[in-house]
Amino acid sequence: DQEAAIALLRERIRDVPGHPNPDVVFKDITPLLADPVAFGHLVELLADVCVRLGATKIVGVEARGFILGAPVAVRARVGFVPARKAGKLPGPVLSRPYDLAYGSGVIELKDDALAPHDRVLVIDDVLASGGTAEAVLHLIRATGATVAGLAVLLELGFLDGRARLEPTLAGAALHAL
Ligand code: AMP
Repeated sequence: DQEAAIALLRERIRDVPGHPNPDVVFKDITPLLADPVAFGHLVELLADVCVRLGATKIVGVEARGFILGAPVAVRARVGFVPARKAGKLPGPVLSRPYDLAYGSGVIELKDDALAPHDRVLVIDDVLASGGTAEAVLHLIRATGATVAGLAVLLELGFLDGRARLEPTLAGAALHAL
């Protein structure tokens, strides 16, 4: 059942204090990815969200959003679109800067990756400050597509990413397994 599946996912996420800097407890999902039963449950749960929201495309956020988003897209029979760090996608692209704990980044989407009729589910592993997701949601809207929701494996509640994202989500779903 779903509770047992979630319990297994929880067991397969490892806390790594001090990575990549002393202020962070890194949530390492590699033990989950290495367990086909756990990874299978994760893909099924996220595919359920995709189907329930009637999404037509999944946008995966570099890099762990690619690992999770791609099998979910295949399972849910929708297309997969990568949101990449600046300079990786061949142009033309839409770009959006966002804040990181130290400094800033730029995230990009191909300008023709989504169409106005698309309903998009964004997938990433961890929701922390919400800055990355916020930038990705803006890029999706800039294509004319609709944001159906954001789904993550886990949310670091103490960072209040959910509150920060609320205006940008504008009623779209936020699912943290
Ligand atoms: P943020 O933009 O602050 O929500 O950060 C989200 C991005 O950073 C996600 O793509 C995560 O993969 C990564 N991230 C942030 N904090 C952590 C953490 N404590 N453990 C693992 N990944 C993290």
